[in-house]
Amino acid sequence: MAEITTAPVTEQVTNPVTDDGDHDRFSHYVRKADATRAAIEGTPVIALCGKVWVPTRDPSKYPVCKTCAEIRKQLINRTNN
Ligand SMILES: [Zn+2]
Repeated sequence: MAEITTAPVTEQVTNPVTDDGDHDRFSHYVRKADATRAAIEGTPVIALCGKVWVPTRDPSKYPVCKTCAEIRKQLINRTNN
């Protein structure tokens, strides 16, 4: 089951990035398959907004990335229509 191209595939994942600055502490949406793989293998994920990082911390305390939220909304709308 690796069909990830058109599914409404998002999951909120942490992004307290440590290697490119404290200003970038947001939760980003990533594809669920990527998040799962990252958790298992420690590989980087690519957020909907294009950000690439290795998720390492609890996402719940960070605000959601506006770009990700916007893209996710569009994906959901497209899927529903
Ligand atoms: Zn984002």
